[in-house]
Amino acid sequence: MTIYNLGSINADYVYDVPHLPAGGETIAATAHRVGLGGKGANQSVAARLAGAEVRHIGAVGADGRWAVERLRGFGVDVAHVAEVGGPTAHAIINVDPQGENMIVLLAGANALQDEARIGAALADAGPGDTLLLQNETTCQLSAAQRAGACGMRVIYSAAPFQAEAVKQMLPLTTILVLNEVEAAQLSDTLGGRMLPDMIVTRGARGASWAVRGGETVEIPAFAVEAVDTTGAGDCFIGSVAACLDLGMGREEALRYGAAAAALQVSRPGTADAMPPRDEVLAFLG
Ligand code: ADP
Repeated sequence: MTIYNLGSINADYVYDVPHLPAGGETIAATAHRVGLGGKGANQSVAARLAGAEVRHIGAVGADGRWAVERLRGFGVDVAHVAEVGGPTAHAIINVDPQGENMIVLLAGANALQDEARIGAALADAGPGDTLLLQNETTCQLSAAQRAGACGMRVIYSAAPFQAEAVKQMLPLTTILVLNEVEAAQLSDTLGGRMLPDMIVTRGARGASWAVRGGETVEIPAFAVEAVDTTGAGDCFIGSVAACLDLGMGREEALRYGAAAAALQVSRPGTADAMPPRDEVLAFLG
């Protein structure tokens, strides 16, 4: 089947700095790199590398054509990534020698999603297909409504956490995915609402899947030496979505996601550090 991902596409401008700049201070960066980022793009890459057919739905500005080509290079279908007026979303990321960072994020084209475009992208979707969503774009609610109406599975990663958005999305969500911090924020805002299936990731302590009204499946993380945990959640979510799409059961999908994320955190980078299926299967043994 197909994973349709309405997702952010960001240019990450990363600067290594001797210390994080204070107000009014100008400092010289010691190194600089530009990479493909955004939770949406990262999740599309992870899902594709795990073996799923992935159609990305999103938007960039004219300055983001290279990012779309990067996605295409991974084998992601980008026919429904539009070029719109305005800048591509980008993040200015300052990183100090201890790995602490300071980030400025401009939503840019990520905030210029279009319902007609989403409708066109989902025109041939149906039961068995998946819609993947995060909180870095607009139009998640209407996309989830369309997906529900045609019987798709909706996997919603509620990051960055926005209480109002999550409340509205809950009834339309098949599987909600949160990290520990987001899970705590959710329980603060929920009241007595009925929850869908919920996957909670806990970094080096693993992940769990609480089935709606049923059992909870827990899996440990794999012990690796983490050098860069940026995008671990995205790698995990994209991988799990792909495994479910390919027909795996819950525990098997979580295990694959944990293995993919363990490999990803053990080397620097986000999308570029995500492991292909063969590597994950070899790691799983
Ligand atoms: P997020 O990046 O959204 O904060 P987490 O930090 O919970 O998400 O990481 C997602 C998953 O990635 C975890 O459930 C785990 O399987 C894997 N992971 C993250 N950090 C590590 C680590 N240090 N060692 C091994 N696996 C990790």
